Amino acid sequence: MSFRAKIILALVIMNAVFLTVITGTTLQFFAHNGYERLRAHARTDARLFASAAVTGILTHDVGGLQAVVDEILTNPDIGFVRVLDRSGRVLAQGGARQALARPFHEGTMRRSGRSRYFEVDQPVIVAGIRYGTVELGLSVRPLRHRLAEGRLRMTTVALVELLLALLFAFYFGSYLGRRLKVLEDAASKVGEGQLGYQVMVRGRDEISRTLRAFNAMSLRLREASDERQRQDGALKELAATLERRVAQRTQELADANQALQKLALHDPLTGLPNRALFEQELGRLLMESRRTQECFAVMILDLNGFKAINDSRGHDAGDRLLRAVGQRLQGAVRASDVVARFGGDEFALLLPALRGGGAAIAVIAEKVARAVAQPLALGLENVEISASIGVAVFPEDGVDMLLLIRRADAAMYWAKRHAAGFQVYDPMIDVQAAEPDAMPPHERRIHAAMANGEFLLHYQPIVSLIDGAVVAVEALARWEDPERGLISPADFMPTIERSRLMTEFTLHVLDRALDDRVLWAADHPSLPIAINISALDLQDDGFVQRVRDRLAQAGPARLVFELTEGALVSNPDQAAWVMEALRDAGIPAALDDYGTGYASIAYLRTLPFDRVKIDRSLIAVIDTNVNEREIVRAIIDVCHCLGYGVVAEGVEHDGLQETLRALHCDYAQGYGIARPMPAAALCDWLAWRAPAGARDEVSLE
Ligand code: C2E
Ligand code: CA
Ligand code: CA
Repeated sequence: MSFRAKIILALVIMNAVFLTVITGTTLQFFAHNGYERLRAHARTDARLFASAAVTGILTHDVGGLQAVVDEILTNPDIGFVRVLDRSGRVLAQGGARQALARPFHEGTMRRSGRSRYFEVDQPVIVAGIRYGTVELGLSVRPLRHRLAEGRLRMTTVALVELLLALLFAFYFGSYLGRRLKVLEDAASKVGEGQLGYQVMVRGRDEISRTLRAFNAMSLRLREASDERQRQDGALKELAATLERRVAQRTQELADANQALQKLALHDPLTGLPNRALFEQELGRLLMESRRTQECFAVMILDLNGFKAINDSRGHDAGDRLLRAVGQRLQGAVRASDVVARFGGDEFALLLPALRGGGAAIAVIAEKVARAVAQPLALGLENVEISASIGVAVFPEDGVDMLLLIRRADAAMYWAKRHAAGFQVYDPMIDVQAAEPDAMPPHERRIHAAMANGEFLLHYQPIVSLIDGAVVAVEALARWEDPERGLISPADFMPTIERSRLMTEFTLHVLDRALDDRVLWAADHPSLPIAINISALDLQDDGFVQRVRDRLAQAGPARLVFELTEGALVSNPDQAAWVMEALRDAGIPAALDDYGTGYASIAYLRTLPFDRVKIDRSLIAVIDTNVNEREIVRAIIDVCHCLGYGVVAEGVEHDGLQETLRALHCDYAQGYGIARPMPAAALCDWLAWRAPAGARDEVSLE
């Protein structure tokens, strides 16, 4: 129902009720008042009649009385009259006969025929003696007539009133409706987006005031919107500037990174890729070739007699010669082949997509040898130099990176010993070279160091970030060379990995750790020891059994084997198989240095790991670099989802521990907790850290 209709209806109902009540009470009042006046009128008429009839009664003048009666009856209001003597006998009467024929009742109103009469009597008393009575019936009709007239007038007035109210309500409702419609239209316009829309306002009433308030609100809305647009614009500009700056900075960083990478992955003397880059390329090629089943070759080349030239003609000449060899090697092979310098006079070539088998290899090797053998002008003389070349082919000679390099190396060494120029790997070479005398010099050196007990272990604790309990110690190898002093693993591990002694070394480390354990076994019998193992160990089918034998001999010990993702990419199926076997033997595995390689967690979840160690290069910056912190948070979350415990490496100060705790990292290891230390020092540290036996139940598992 519209607003206008509601107003009209309300006013009409109100008016009708009001008028009905007013008219009803007024008419009732009139009626009551009319009867009172009628009664007074009748009494007066009766008294007048009595005084006019006194003489006639006293004298019993019936004729005179009749004349008085007739006279009285000329008044149309009087219906009938009667004069009675003292004994009630009628002396004279006149008027309505029917009424006269009935008994008279003083003070009542009675119907007689079609008329109604108000009946009053008046005694006629003279000097205290009653001589008679007059009776009079006053007609009610004139009164009723007046009352009907009054009612008609009242009703007419009420109806006119009602009509006027109706008209007023209609006008008022329309007026209000119109004005509210203006507000409604304006509000819709603002709603449609016409901010600032204004309504014409003239009056000062409530609606005008509401409209003015609306105008003000609409204006303020437009101002606010303009302001917001201005702010949006400024913000966009700011964002664009920021984006430009970030892009610029990112580019600078990328350039710097590229320059650094080039520095880190290239040999400064020749500008050729170094060993690290060569291994990266080899790793990538291994993954690809495993998919495509394409052969490729790893070629190791060592110059013959370079030391003599270097010693006799000086380092400058030696450097020039090495640079020239590098260039010639690049010229001798395809652009897609990789030529790297491993160090000293040793070069390596990676020859992908090899077709034609042994014959093709021989052709390439000869081409390479010829290129190197070209005379080179060094000062006044021409110098000629030859090379020994060893080749290992994927997949025949190995499906693993280190194995391929080691076998190419062994073949090269064989070629050198037999002055054969070049040699493709053959298992016979390993058999012949098992004797220390037939070993390449670096291998012989390692072999001797193990035999002489020159390798020792330092131990670094790993602690829980929740309660600080020591959950494991990691065994880290050191080489105490009688001539060179203490050598760190970064300097000797690559040599061991190149030799055929890798697994021997791992088992040697295991033996030493099991020996050292005796020092703390009494106080901390179940403290796990983490041992670093190599990809090559996983390729060795006998590895698990040899570990089992060691444990059987040394008594039960809790171990964890740590291996890097590099160990897994070359032959994941074999790795998974060995890891399962180790787990069955009660030795869980931890993924080491996570975050430095290219393996994704999704790929790693197919391997049976128990925990992940996040590399210190990622951990070191989480306090200062928000992005890195978020990356580490994500890694931790994903690891937890996959059910791995997480160890943070390289925790160098207490602040990092706080941050790591906030990221829900489980364990920490680093200089900030303890540096790697000899076994005896570890015992002291453990005793200082916790009373004997107090924390032995806690472990990484
Ligand atoms: P890793 O397995 O990642 O071992 C942790 C290395 O980080 C150790 O170096 C340790 O001394 C160092 N480190 C620990 N906390 C901190 C810290 O807060 N700040 C810094 N800057 N460094 C910290 P280390 O002993 O020189 O060993 C280097 C790597 O050599 C090891 O890395 C591991 O890959 C390898 N390695 C050591 N011992 C063995 C072993 O017996 N067998 C094998 N296969 N590899 C070993
Ligand atoms: Ca490790
Ligand atoms: Ca590590």
